[in-house]
Amino acid sequence: MTDDRLLTGKRRKEDQDQSLRPQLLSQVIGQERVVENLKILVSAAKARKEPLDHILFYGPPGIGKTTLSTVMGKEMGVNVRPTAGPAIERAGDLAAILTHLREGDILFIDEIHRLGKAVGEILYPAMEDFVLDIVVGKGPAAKNVRLNLPRFTVIGATTRLALLSSALRSRFGAIYRLDFYSLEAMNLIVKRAAEMLRIPTDEGGASEIASRARGTPRIALRLLKRVRDFAQVRGDGTITRPIADEALDLLNVDHLGLDDIDRRVLISIIEKGGGPIGLETIAAAISEESDTIMDVCEPYLIQLGFLDRTPRGRTVTRKAYDHLKIPYNGRDDQTSTEQNPLF
Ligand code: ADP
Repeated sequence: MTDDRLLTGKRRKEDQDQSLRPQLLSQVIGQERVVENLKILVSAAKARKEPLDHILFYGPPGIGKTTLSTVMGKEMGVNVRPTAGPAIERAGDLAAILTHLREGDILFIDEIHRLGKAVGEILYPAMEDFVLDIVVGKGPAAKNVRLNLPRFTVIGATTRLALLSSALRSRFGAIYRLDFYSLEAMNLIVKRAAEMLRIPTDEGGASEIASRARGTPRIALRLLKRVRDFAQVRGDGTITRPIADEALDLLNVDHLGLDDIDRRVLISIIEKGGGPIGLETIAAAISEESDTIMDVCEPYLIQLGFLDRTPRGRTVTRKAYDHLKIPYNGRDDQTSTEQNPLF
């Protein structure tokens, strides 16, 4: 896998553009239903002069989970302490973080599905009763000590709701799914970012980028920056539709936003008769990480109606054959009737 792939779900250095992040709920574009709910949470908590309830956001990478968490911190006027499931290795690591929180602070835990079991056991009572049970000393002299914690808020983010234990899920007062953005919202996001980064962009250029960014703000921002380079080198610096079109073709991002890896996923299944085939088999066939396929490719391919997930594996639909211009092999309806959750 090359490191300059556009459609990776992982954060990269080029994404660290804090200035592009909306600061307040009123500046958040799209996700209207979630934003409405969050406004109510904020108003209610402020009126009661209480910290926010624990919140869980789930959805594909780059969709705004971290952004909304920082926005919640700004709305409440509290600090947001960011961390991530894999970064908290031992129970002691979490205890150290918790004891440094102040009343009302937000602890943002990204990839919360990757928290270890021992860490979870410390987190549950902390979330529920704001206490920390620790063992002091060793051997026969060891004592259980209970510390009171300030009332804080956990905001968890995950791409895989299904991997969260029901014990952890039940600790969250509010759980929100973030969906892919509409084309209209994507257009606004591209235009706003172009304005803030002072990249001359016309309507056609912005809408070309928006329509190929697979409903994901992080991808839209990456595409915008790559197209800016192209516009500087091959054009007069302005992003127009023909410039965006040419640049994105060169980047191998097609008009629906599919890149090489999406196409290879589909083709690997088609080569095996259209499926059903298992995730691990696909990952091995195309030498990609199964996490990338599951988190980044599949949700979008499913949303496009190109891929189905069935208990026996993944199948490709006729729509995908048509998109790839591969003759459909005449099978009867491959579309499964079984509904499976995305995450
Ligand atoms: P996640 O935590 O879901 O992986 P992020 O919150 O890091 O995603 O968002 C990725 C990028 O997309 C951020 O840099 C942010 O600037 C931008 N972004 C996310 N949501 C929005 C939004 N609703 N409006 C404008 N920009 C957004």
